[in-house]
Amino acid sequence: MAEEKQDKFVMNFEATERPDRPPQGYYDSIKAKFAEQRELRLGYRPPGTEMYRDLDGAMADLARDPYADDWVGRDAIVDSKDDVVDVLFIGGGFSALLTSARLREQGVESIRIVERGADVGGTWYWNRYPGVACDVVAYDYLPLLDEMNYVPTRHYAQGPEIFAHCQAIATKYDLYDLAVFQTTVTSTVWDEESEQWHITTDRGDSMRAKFVVCANGTLAKPRLARIDGMEKFSGHSFHTSRWDYDLTGPDLENLGNVRVGIIGTGASAVQIIPNLGKHAKSVHVFQRTPSSIDIRDDWETKDEWASKLEDGWQSRRRAKIVSKLREQAERKATLRGGITREEKIRRQENNNIDAMMRIHKRIDDTVEDEATADALKPWYMLMCKRPCFHNEYLPTFNRPNVHLVDTQGEGITEIGTSGPIFAGVEYEVDLLIYATGFEVQQTGIYNRIVGEHGVDLDEKYDEGIRTMLGIHTAGFPNLFIMGGYQASFQFNLTDLLQVQGDHIANCVAHARAEGYDTIDVTPEAEEWWVQEVIAYRGTTTRNQECTPGYYNFEGQENRRQDGNYNGGFPAYIDHIAAVEADMDSRFVFTSG
Ligand code: NDP
Repeated sequence: MAEEKQDKFVMNFEATERPDRPPQGYYDSIKAKFAEQRELRLGYRPPGTEMYRDLDGAMADLARDPYADDWVGRDAIVDSKDDVVDVLFIGGGFSALLTSARLREQGVESIRIVERGADVGGTWYWNRYPGVACDVVAYDYLPLLDEMNYVPTRHYAQGPEIFAHCQAIATKYDLYDLAVFQTTVTSTVWDEESEQWHITTDRGDSMRAKFVVCANGTLAKPRLARIDGMEKFSGHSFHTSRWDYDLTGPDLENLGNVRVGIIGTGASAVQIIPNLGKHAKSVHVFQRTPSSIDIRDDWETKDEWASKLEDGWQSRRRAKIVSKLREQAERKATLRGGITREEKIRRQENNNIDAMMRIHKRIDDTVEDEATADALKPWYMLMCKRPCFHNEYLPTFNRPNVHLVDTQGEGITEIGTSGPIFAGVEYEVDLLIYATGFEVQQTGIYNRIVGEHGVDLDEKYDEGIRTMLGIHTAGFPNLFIMGGYQASFQFNLTDLLQVQGDHIANCVAHARAEGYDTIDVTPEAEEWWVQEVIAYRGTTTRNQECTPGYYNFEGQENRRQDGNYNGGFPAYIDHIAAVEADMDSRFVFTSG
């Protein structure tokens, strides 16, 4: 059911025409309101991400890992040049896990994961807030289900099940043996003489590896809004990815007498707020921009369905999704021949607006107080921000203890000792939760990466990101990047990661089989991909028209190559296959 709905959702972006279409003036007036709301928000903001800050300085306590009992002491690891691991992963989330599984299948024995958390899991290690779950169908999202012989217990898996799946993968593929936790990689430097990567960490380690995979995730580093006075707040506070269960109790049972404030209404907050509503004395939700909240069709996996699944069911399911995407691309191409580009965009936008108005209607049908209902309505094209799916979020605002403080695009700009201040009112709270999200897609997050001839990756990217497939970047041999810019965008991120992981394992296996010490993309192949990314970006003005958010660089202009590859996932898969079929012309290999 939900898959059908998800399909319909994608269909909204197709240029099909409705027979009962309202007059164009109706759509134009809604689009004008979208533009007005965007301008309103941009008027309040400093450019780009300047309005966000790290969990450091006076707020450094918020970065503490509440899930690890202790900071486990250990001696620094010092690898000699003769004692190096084959592949070192920076980050221990799904990128590392599913690539490691493929590397093991290819016979790679020494794999080391270096991870900031105290276990594998990445996103699913850190995000343990009440209600945490994934909006992508679990049978697609959880990777390696065939290999793990596992069927998720629900249509949409909850956080603990996904985290346990990560741990099970690490156990099955013996990834714990060499893994190093509670450790942050601070530099990754290519040693030209030994043709090895030299990795240092915040624990004094000096590690060495033949191959390095930047598997640090796309939304790994929590951020706070920059708000005057935040350090003066006298109550407790934490970020959603550092949930303090000692304070709230495992089932939020300690919140009965606690007045809670939560800043932000993105995908994390949407899952948290219904639980706060049920348990806290009062909840004040400080909203800058509402999320779109669609229906969530969830159910327990039926035994009779699961028991009939045959070996290889997940890979067949994934192949089917890719073939559906191909059909969709073909349909679009056919349609493109019949109508003008302007007409196509007009129809797509109108369909998108229809979908958003359906979401507005759901709000009106659910939320009793008219002013609150109005304030919860998103005024932007669907997909300008991460769409959310929840059945309890909207009804939560009918509870007498839950209050929406709609800042109408301005956001909270001041916090007093008792709580957030808006329009001259200080809202007194005992606990303040920052649901303000994460920094986006930095390859070298926390970590300085230096390639051949001492070139710093950040310096190389100064003039624009340059990669092939988002995975290889010239001058950084034996380095692979996962999930970053210039890769294809997939709503189901693990689809993309698996495709990248398979490719990385194939590259490593190829180099090993041929006796090569290094593999590096040629400058020509890199240039080909940069041009491919540019060709598919900016074909619509959509990004410039969207309300600001992390999908469009917070409304800031950016270089055309500094984003995802928009040629479609099937085309991305085809490009990878073509590269693998002709490795010698895309890469420079060296040996001995
Ligand atoms: P987001 O970046 O999506 O949300 C941050 C929120 O904080 C926004 O609502 C933002 O408002 C708000 N904000 C920032 N500063 C202020 C301020 N000064 N005053 C008031 N509000 C403010 O972070 P999330 O952690 O919610 O989600 C991050 C991503 O993680 C998601 O997009 C998704 O990809 C993933 N995720 C997926 C889930 C799922 O599968 N269901 C669940 C949770 C997360 P504004 O919109 O105006 O910028």
